[in-house]
Amino acid sequence: MEQENLQFAQKVRRAKRRIIIALLVLPPLLLIVSVYLGIQCFQQRRQAAAYTAELEAQAGQLQQAAEQRRQLEEQLLAATQSTPESAPPEALEYQQLYPELSVEPAKSVSPADKMVYLTFDDGPSGNTLALLDVLDKYSVKATFFVVGSQIPGREDILREIAARGHTVGMHSNSHKYNDIYASVDACLQDFDLLRARILEVTGQAPSILRFPGGSVNGYNRDIYQELISEMLRRGYAYFDWNVSAQDATSQNKSVADIANAVVTAVPRHRYSIVLLHDTSLRETSVKAVDRLIPQLLELGYTFAPLDPSVSPIIFSYK
Ligand SMILES: [Zn+2]
Repeated sequence: MEQENLQFAQKVRRAKRRIIIALLVLPPLLLIVSVYLGIQCFQQRRQAAAYTAELEAQAGQLQQAAEQRRQLEEQLLAATQSTPESAPPEALEYQQLYPELSVEPAKSVSPADKMVYLTFDDGPSGNTLALLDVLDKYSVKATFFVVGSQIPGREDILREIAARGHTVGMHSNSHKYNDIYASVDACLQDFDLLRARILEVTGQAPSILRFPGGSVNGYNRDIYQELISEMLRRGYAYFDWNVSAQDATSQNKSVADIANAVVTAVPRHRYSIVLLHDTSLRETSVKAVDRLIPQLLELGYTFAPLDPSVSPIIFSYK
């Protein structure tokens, strides 16, 4: 029993010793461990911060690269848009003016042999209705190159010309050569006014024209080449003539002379575009037409109105 007590007491003592040792050893150990862990933690934090900074820097670089790429793409797009394969040539100023002075160009074909195209310049006039009746008498259709300043008060006559199946072409609005041929622009303006007038009265826009005095004359020497190419560019066909009735000369010609001038000249050409006039002053023209038509019909000629598909007679200007 006593021995048991002794053993127990020894166990207790040993246990106490262990506890004391443990109490003495543990705190510094814990201190060392926590210092070690603290150092580790600090180092890892520092590393993490360094990584974050590095990642941020890399992200910044990527963003910069993306921005540079976007700018390059924009520049490339702008470059492709601003440099088409061939830059259009710079247009002349008058080409931009009077945009309505334009028609669909027609392909012209050479007329059949023995065709005669009677053309009457300068109307409508006080003689137009008489002339229309003469043409109707022979069922002949012709062409009237009208003057705009002659239209006011004669709108019905102009409508009658169109209604009876004749062609209404442009001649000039003012018929004042010095004004019209002052410049290409002035001539375009004149034609545009006439075009609008004809359209307003007849409901149809003209598609052919005769330049006042013909396409090449003493008044348009400096501008005719430019003017002709501009009217062609706008789609208009223009007609000069190869037979002149000489019915508008200063000296009044007789009916017989006018008719003879035409009847003798027509057989010299494969087809003829005949210049005549429709003015209030010259009744002789009307009477001459009444003579020349039956004579030419007798000789086997056919009459027709001009249209843009008739291969024109044009004066040489080269
Ligand atoms: Zn004229």
